[in-house]
Amino acid sequence: MTPRLLAKKDLGRFIAALAKEAEVWAPVKSTDRENCRFGPVTGAEGICLDCLQTRLPVKELFLPQREILFRFKSDSPARVKPVSDIPARVVFGVRPCDAAALELFDRVFLDPAGDDPYYRHRRERTALIGVACDDPGTACFCTAVGGDPHGTAALDLLLEDIGDRWLCRPLTEKGERLAAARGPAGKDDCAETERRAAAAREQMTFAPDLAQLAEKLAGAFDHEIWEELARPCVNCGVCTYLCPTCHCFDVTDEERHGRGARIRAWDSCQFSLFTRHASGHNPRPTGTTRLRNRTLHKFRYFPHTHGPLLCVGCGRCIIHCPAGIDLRETLETLTATLR
Ligand code: SF4
Ligand code: SF4
Repeated sequence: MTPRLLAKKDLGRFIAALAKEAEVWAPVKSTDRENCRFGPVTGAEGICLDCLQTRLPVKELFLPQREILFRFKSDSPARVKPVSDIPARVVFGVRPCDAAALELFDRVFLDPAGDDPYYRHRRERTALIGVACDDPGTACFCTAVGGDPHGTAALDLLLEDIGDRWLCRPLTEKGERLAAARGPAGKDDCAETERRAAAAREQMTFAPDLAQLAEKLAGAFDHEIWEELARPCVNCGVCTYLCPTCHCFDVTDEERHGRGARIRAWDSCQFSLFTRHASGHNPRPTGTTRLRNRTLHKFRYFPHTHGPLLCVGCGRCIIHCPAGIDLRETLETLTATLR
C-alpha cells in the first residue's frame, strides 16, 4: 500500500471530508493537557495534537462506561436492541498502544464461540487513524510488552510526523480509502519516519524478561510478596478504569413501572464487591488478593490462555495511581523475588 502525505495545515479539510461520510472522533482539548478525551469533531478546531495520551483510552468508544443492552417490558418477552443505531465512525489520533489494546479486546469480545454483537458492530463500523509517538512519556513502556511507538496493530492508517506533514501509512483497505486523496510520499519521507521510530524506541529502556516472569508467576499464588506489593493500594480501581486492556463489566436490570433496561457498566477487580457471592462469601476478600489477581491476570492468566500479555505499556496506571504504585517496579520486584 502506497504511503501518502498529509500537510498539517490541511488537517481541517481532511477531517471535514471525513465528517461528510462518518462521525469523526479525536482527542479534544481541555485546559489540562492530561485530561484530553476523545470527542466528536467536524474540523481541526479543538483537536489536541500534542496530547500524548487521553486520560481515558479509546476503549470507551467500543465498550462504553455504561450502555443499555436492550429495553424490555415486564409483561412481554420482546427485547428492543439498539445495536443497529451505531453510526459509521472514524477515530483520529489513536496512539499505537491504545490501538494494540483493541486487538486484545478482540480476543475476548470476538470469540468465535459467542461474540459480543455490540462490540463487533462498533469495531466493524469504526476506522482507526493512529498517530505514532516520537516522544514517549516517562511512564511509557510499550516496547517491554511487545509494542512499538510506531506500532500498527489494529489501525487502518498510521500517521507519522515528518515536520510540517504526516506520512500516512495505509494498513487496511479502509485506511487506503481514507488516504486515497493524498499525494504519494517519497523515499526520504519514509526514511525519516524510520529514523524517528528508532529514536523513540531508544528512549524506552525498561526491558524486563516478562516471558520468564510469566513462568515464575505460575507458582507464586501463595507467595508473601503480594502482601508487601499491595500494602499501599487503596483499591480505588483507577488503574483498571483507565487501563486500555481492562474489560471487566457488570450487568444489571433497572425496572420501573413495568418498563426496564438491561445495563452494562464497567466494573473493577479492585473492588471488594466484584467477587462477592450471594452467600456473602468472597474469594478475594482483601486488597492483597485483588492486586494479586490483577497482576496475575495481565502477566500470567491472559498470556497462558490467549498468547499476548494483557498490558500494552501505556503507563496510565503508573501516572494516575493515587498510592504511587508503579507497575514497572512491581514487575521488577516480582522478577527479583520469585524463583
Ligand atoms: S490505582 Fe493504585 S491504589 Fe488504586 S486500585 Fe490501582 S493500584 Fe490500587
Ligand atoms: S496495566 Fe497499566 S501500563 Fe499496562 S496497559 Fe494497563 S494501564 Fe497501561
